[in-house]
Amino acid sequence: MINLDNPIKYLKGVGPKKSLLFNKLNIFTIRDLLTYYPKEWIDRREIKKIAEVRDGEYAVIFGKIELIDVIILNQKLSVFKSAITDQTGVIYAIQYKKHSYSYDVFKKLKTDFKLKNKVLIYGKVTTDFGLKQITIEDYKIIEDDIQENEEFTQIIPVYQLTEGINMKFIRNVVKQAIDEYAKYYPEILTDSIRKKYNLIPIYDAIRNIHFPNDFIQKDLAKRRLSFDELLVLEIAMLISKRQINEKKKNRTYEIKKNLLLPFKENLGFTFTKAQKRVINEIFSDLKKPTPMNRLLLGDVGSGKTVVALSAILLAIENGFQVAFMAPTEILAEQHYYTINNFVDKLNIRIELLTGAISTNKKKDIVNRILSGEIDLVIGTHALIEENIKFRNLALIVIDEQHKFGVIQRQKLRNKAFSQLNSSVPDMLIMTATPIPRTFALTLYYDLDISIIDELPPGRSVVHTEHVDENTAYEFTKKEINAGHQAFIVFPLIDDSDILELRSVLKEGKRLIENVFKNYRVGILHGRMRGKQKEKIMIDFRDKKYDILITTTVIEVGIDIPNATVMVIHHADRFGLATLHQLRGRIGRSNYQSTCFILGSPKTEEAKKRFEIFTSTTDGFKIAESDLELRGPGEFFGTAQHGLLKLKISNILTDIEIIELARKCASELLEKDKFLKLPEHYNLRKELLNLYSEKLDLPRTL
Ligand code: ADP
Ligand code: MG
Repeated sequence: MINLDNPIKYLKGVGPKKSLLFNKLNIFTIRDLLTYYPKEWIDRREIKKIAEVRDGEYAVIFGKIELIDVIILNQKLSVFKSAITDQTGVIYAIQYKKHSYSYDVFKKLKTDFKLKNKVLIYGKVTTDFGLKQITIEDYKIIEDDIQENEEFTQIIPVYQLTEGINMKFIRNVVKQAIDEYAKYYPEILTDSIRKKYNLIPIYDAIRNIHFPNDFIQKDLAKRRLSFDELLVLEIAMLISKRQINEKKKNRTYEIKKNLLLPFKENLGFTFTKAQKRVINEIFSDLKKPTPMNRLLLGDVGSGKTVVALSAILLAIENGFQVAFMAPTEILAEQHYYTINNFVDKLNIRIELLTGAISTNKKKDIVNRILSGEIDLVIGTHALIEENIKFRNLALIVIDEQHKFGVIQRQKLRNKAFSQLNSSVPDMLIMTATPIPRTFALTLYYDLDISIIDELPPGRSVVHTEHVDENTAYEFTKKEINAGHQAFIVFPLIDDSDILELRSVLKEGKRLIENVFKNYRVGILHGRMRGKQKEKIMIDFRDKKYDILITTTVIEVGIDIPNATVMVIHHADRFGLATLHQLRGRIGRSNYQSTCFILGSPKTEEAKKRFEIFTSTTDGFKIAESDLELRGPGEFFGTAQHGLLKLKISNILTDIEIIELARKCASELLEKDKFLKLPEHYNLRKELLNLYSEKLDLPRTL
């Protein structure tokens, strides 16, 4: 029977061995193969005259084989060469191979390339001592007639490969799958929706995304497939959101102030206007009968922690438990210490739960979470994943959300939800990634957004300068002599054979022994054990070190107000977002702080980055310039990764299609709340296939 979920070994030429290789590419079934979309397409429609082709271009040529030769270049390398002619000239088709690769590496080429045969070759054109050459990326011997070249001179898909699967092979297998199976690919859209949104039929889309006749066909195919993918996602999100909003919290918060008041009085500062406004937004959410889903956006140093802490204390003074999650252990530890400092005298039971905690202690903590003897537990997201049961968890705070993804977030919520029996937790998600508001709306469209757009008063702007090493170090010494501390950041932990960059361990040693031999220097990097990191951090905070030599592990969150100098080596190696986060580690008090960037930017882009970074400290401005400089794809690269496993669409750039898909999704659900109508059968099946586990949608809706 024709079934798209058949394993790929049903295809000719795909045996058990190849199957395993395909599995490495996450291709298991025919459907996986059909939706293994090309990463790009090569236009091979035009056959060029040899005289026409130019240095550096990729081209297709057609000519007669006049000469073949294999030349051994040295002990390791040989080259296959064949002179090809047409009426306009001669070109050498070449292919290099390492000897060790196989005994007779050119066997196939030597059998195929027969003198006087005609051949089509696709490859990159170069010139060598005035002679034209073309690398043999792909070729086809033409025995009779040039007519049969159609398959060669097409728009050709390029796929991500893995060792053992070459491009020609995968193209053939995909082609076979399309010919035999694509017509059975389920159509999830009704004709009326296709018409309304101007979408081509799914069969055409599947075929044309791989083998389009022209680029318009390809674009239409991409549009259709992206639409489907986003539509199903939007429906999943809408249903998931609907499920949450249909739930009542079964709890009320009352502002009792027995914790909030003393907390506020002991703060040592007053909240900024922005902090007050955001705290109000959060409190009014908490008091609503439906659960809170709020994103707190605020630049580094804008004071998000105390805002979150206010919400946490409100929950605790109402007798609830709170989970606070950070993306890394080091940050979780940091939060644990700062929060403890703030609520020192309040008699709150707080525990830290990370991988660094011993099994026995962990067991004890887990028990006390269940019995309700712990009010606040701080840790990484392992907190939720490890199936820890709470007695009455009411609020989840997630710091630095950009490290988590949408699915992860939904999962967290659902997990927490199931742990709460009937009551859905309130969620507060914080991020320091200053992303432009329009993008925030797309990226976090399932959340309400609060923005802290003001820094605490008296913050002096961090002075930033591109200087040489000596200047930076002399200044660092002056600051330390005045009682302050400094960070020195390197891109690598240890020296590398490949990159000529300085590292924490090598250069750090030199600094300790020479430049800073009269100072106390600590070393911190990601390869250290949790406990060890924690100790160094605490010692640095307690001023047992003057300098911390480190990597970007300190990029997020760490708060050492007494540190006033940040020296960043090879700053040209870092993106603006990272630089901004690094600089955010200083200037966290009233002391004037200074950030030195070292290194020599070589590309235009790197030069621009230096220019922007030294001219503003405004995170939103930096984000906007960064976005302009790199384009949304690159800009969101890491954020997008792990966000969703989207195969063809891009949640951040396909803005127009997202809007259409969202509109279509809500129309569909309005008409057919549970997608039970027969014409929605395929759609519903696809939805459950893709999302029932990820989003904890029920198997039946
Ligand atoms: P972030 O938003 O980057 O997480 P933090 O919450 O770590 O920032 O706050 C940065 C520093 O500013 C901390 O030392 C914090 O105690 C301090 N801070 C927060 N709010 C205020 C305020 N209103 N006035 C003065 N200092 C503040
Ligand atoms: Mg923070």
